[in-house]
Amino acid sequence: MMGMKKKKCLECKVEFEVNPKARFARKYCKTCSKKRKKMWDEQWKLKIEDFDDEDD
Ligand SMILES: [Zn+2]
Repeated sequence: MMGMKKKKCLECKVEFEVNPKARFARKYCKTCSKKRKKMWDEQWKLKIEDFDDEDD
């Protein structure tokens, strides 16, 4: 395949393929980005709940 680059995941150090034409360079493999996205989503939820408390 042309144009595919290999990169090492910052988290688990596993090599994965990245598309150099992608808008954002990926730093994490599929598994880790899924994990991180989930973590982020949960962090956001927590933050929003915190803000709600402060508003009271
Ligand atoms: Zn990874």
